[in-house]
Amino acid sequence: MREALHVIDNELVKLPYSATDDEVNNFKKLAKKEIYQCPYCQARLIVKHGEERGLYFSHQHSEACEESRMVDKAEKKYTKQIERESKLHKVLIDIILDELEIKSKVNKEMFVNVGYKAKTDWKEYPDIYVKIPKKELAVSIITNVSPSDDSKLAQQIKKRHEYFLDKGVEPIWFIEKKEQAIEKDKSSIILWDAELSIALKTREDNIWDKLISNEVADEKFFDYFNYPSSFIERVDVRSLYYIYNNDEKVVIKVQRFLKDRVLKPLRAFLVNEGYELPFAEALAVEDGFKLSNPEIESEQRKAFQEKIKQKKESFAEQLRYQEEMRKLRLEQEEEERKRKAEEQDLILKELLEQRKGDKINTELNYNELKRLLKERIGLTQKEQMELWTRHMPKIGINNSRVVWELVIENNCTSFNELRPILENK
Ligand SMILES: [Zn+2]
Repeated sequence: MREALHVIDNELVKLPYSATDDEVNNFKKLAKKEIYQCPYCQARLIVKHGEERGLYFSHQHSEACEESRMVDKAEKKYTKQIERESKLHKVLIDIILDELEIKSKVNKEMFVNVGYKAKTDWKEYPDIYVKIPKKELAVSIITNVSPSDDSKLAQQIKKRHEYFLDKGVEPIWFIEKKEQAIEKDKSSIILWDAELSIALKTREDNIWDKLISNEVADEKFFDYFNYPSSFIERVDVRSLYYIYNNDEKVVIKVQRFLKDRVLKPLRAFLVNEGYELPFAEALAVEDGFKLSNPEIESEQRKAFQEKIKQKKESFAEQLRYQEEMRKLRLEQEEEERKRKAEEQDLILKELLEQRKGDKINTELNYNELKRLLKERIGLTQKEQMELWTRHMPKIGINNSRVVWELVIENNCTSFNELRPILENK
């Protein structure tokens, strides 16, 4: 038995790991007065001091009771479980534990303990176990998330999460905020696999689900936010709870997102920028931890709807502008086409006038026809071959002028338009 033990008036006592000789002697004297008691078998405890274990409680004659041996075993397993966590992990757990212990003193129906002591026989431990009327909570903090062990960690967390659910205990996860990867111009957050695994589904998330379900029917919805959506099958808003120090105060940042990609990169749609809560407020106990501020949530939902309204308007405005530009371009193209056609008619007229003057031949020759068709209907080499081999023999190789007249009469703009006319000739 090492850490917290009961003294007679039910106060918890923790021995320091190291102590001066005087202090060690003092603890030993107190123990002789039989004030330390095993919380499990109520046996009197003595105090020992060793180089490896520091200062610790022990049953007399080293005959630890079954319960205390189980706690020892659980502690070893838990120590292994949290091996990967940063130094901050322990600090944050202590702060949260202190806060919850204060709350449990006021609320007699609330029970709080570290996970491995509360549930010695479990295979996975939450950092903190909390029991409130009608509900048990498994509180865990994740630190040190990095790309190298992200997927492995995600697997461990998923397993633990499922395990707690199997035990009928609601898992609550906090994650150390180091660097959130947010693409602000896209309203997007790139998540760790581990983050997606611990995202919670709370009452507020359900309210957001409803709001977004109504809006997302608009197929332009994600365009309004410049968000590169993959196919979202079902509206599923989730929330993450980042924990960190801000001005020497521990705060929880509530970050809500619409779940999207399940393959890397794990992009999700940010429904808002998130907000900070003093952690005492986040841990206020209602039918679970409060974890949110309903007034802020309601304001943010209003702001979200207002934003969509504005985005819709500016999007429609943009579409109108684009449509106008398209019309303008078409008009210009049409004018240009007309101008060219007139120019060609003029060239032909002049050509024919010249020919009349020659009095030799008022007909077009085939080479001239080719040149005219190239300009007028963009005749390609392949089409020219077709004209020459398939149609001219029928029309008469000296009758180039007939072809040209057909083009003018029918106002052809391409060979595809001309072909059926030639075929029916
Ligand atoms: Zn005992």
